[in-house]
Amino acid sequence: MRQEGKKFIVDAMLGRLSRWMILLGYDAVYFRGQTDKELLEKALEEGRIIITRDTRLVENRPQKQMLLIRSTQFWEQLRQVVEAFPMNFRDTILTRCSICSVLLEQVDLESMRGEIPIKAREQATELFRCPCCGHLYWDGTHPIHIMKQLKENLGNIFE
Ligand SMILES: [Zn+2]
Repeated sequence: MRQEGKKFIVDAMLGRLSRWMILLGYDAVYFRGQTDKELLEKALEEGRIIITRDTRLVENRPQKQMLLIRSTQFWEQLRQVVEAFPMNFRDTILTRCSICSVLLEQVDLESMRGEIPIKAREQATELFRCPCCGHLYWDGTHPIHIMKQLKENLGNIFE
């Protein structure tokens, strides 16, 4: 069950999948480069599993560190990842920066309250910061909205 140590690189055509993998807590980076060679090199260098829809890439370079996404439908794509690499999502969801994919650090909400939008101040009970880019994250409507979408679309996994 423990997949927490695994790292992923998501192929350029799967941007939405890459964003949602990070929301779920996967250590995933989105590949913005051009060539298959670059993708393979980066994956090897950083020890990342390749997530791709490119059948040719998977056929030409048979190696275990790849997952070929079968569906063109986004929620089926995410379901395939979640089933192939299950995690304890209750613990991992929304723990990473959606920009950098690094783990967030909890910071003191009271002393930072002035840094977040007025509307969010009343709702927020916890505050987190990305150690890489400094972006702030708090609880409130965004996490609720995300959980709602997961339950609606991948119900049996996120009940
Ligand atoms: Zn960041």
